[in-house]
Amino acid sequence: MTARIIDGKAFAAKVRAQVALQVATLTQEHGITPGLAVVLVGEDPASQVYVRNKGKQTKECGMASFEHKLDADTSEEALLSLIARLNADPAVHGILVQLPLPGHLNEDLVINAIAPEKDVDGFHISNVGLLATGQKAMVPCTPLGCLMMLREELGSLAGLNAVVVGRSNIVGKPMAQLLLRDSCTVTIAHSRTRDIEAVCREADILVAAVGRPQMVTGDWVKPGATVIDVGINRIEKDGGGTRLVGDVDFASAAEVAGAITPVPGGVGPMTIACLLANTLTACCRVNTLPEPKGLTA
Ligand code: NDP
Repeated sequence: MTARIIDGKAFAAKVRAQVALQVATLTQEHGITPGLAVVLVGEDPASQVYVRNKGKQTKECGMASFEHKLDADTSEEALLSLIARLNADPAVHGILVQLPLPGHLNEDLVINAIAPEKDVDGFHISNVGLLATGQKAMVPCTPLGCLMMLREELGSLAGLNAVVVGRSNIVGKPMAQLLLRDSCTVTIAHSRTRDIEAVCREADILVAAVGRPQMVTGDWVKPGATVIDVGINRIEKDGGGTRLVGDVDFASAAEVAGAITPVPGGVGPMTIACLLANTLTACCRVNTLPEPKGLTA
């Protein structure tokens, strides 16, 4: 069997177009422009690239983008004071603090200072609780993107066996919650799981969010399963240089799976698209307007 490739890049473009259309309607009919504030502390090169891309795509969708760049030695007090200002600013519907923060800043404290209704990353403790209890939450962007691709690929997920490898707060746990909400039978595997290969072989849906290059090989995959590879790992290339690979060994897994996301071009592009979708959702909710169709969990 050779798997169908799930084209995350094309799907993300479709999501962005949907967001842009609904933003245009919001602006024309209600005079409201959704706004996203991104806060970057320090000069981490990867974070700078992410923040630049987020700002660019926000503007391309017709939304307002507010970038706040703070020095690496910014005090916690100054950062919290900026967040308080953004919480109170009616032009800002979404706030994202780019992680990781420099070591002297308490990430939990900073994230939990964001107004939950503006927490478009879905990391605030209130949103974690709302998601876990099946209430209306802001949902973390990467798992939301995975869920959208799974629904598009499979339709109803009810009754399917889903295995999520990885139990981080930003990917593994919220992914498992979303799959449970869609009535999958969910197993979360991690570094202490016994016979992880056999656990994965039971999965109709296999999500890998581990951070270990090409760990999940074809013999871990149930024939016909849908495989979502969240991993982004940079490895040395034969003959010099580096290349990006996922947590799944694409070549062997694609021989067995029914459908699979590639790296790059799978989950990655969906993450920013879902950030834009979440900003639109946050704007609609605060203005008590109907939620954007097809863009929420
Ligand atoms: P974390 O390091 O926070 O979590 C990794 C998880 O994998 C942990 O729960 C860990 O288990 C588990 N794990 C580690 N080694 C093994 C192993 N040998 N067998 C089984 N489980 C193992 O990573 P993240 O969740 O933040 O990210 C995961 C991957 O996804 C990374 O490659 C990251 O770059 C990528 N990513 C991609 C995004 C995108 O937009 N596409 C966004 C976010 C992340 P334990 O808890 O037991 O230690």
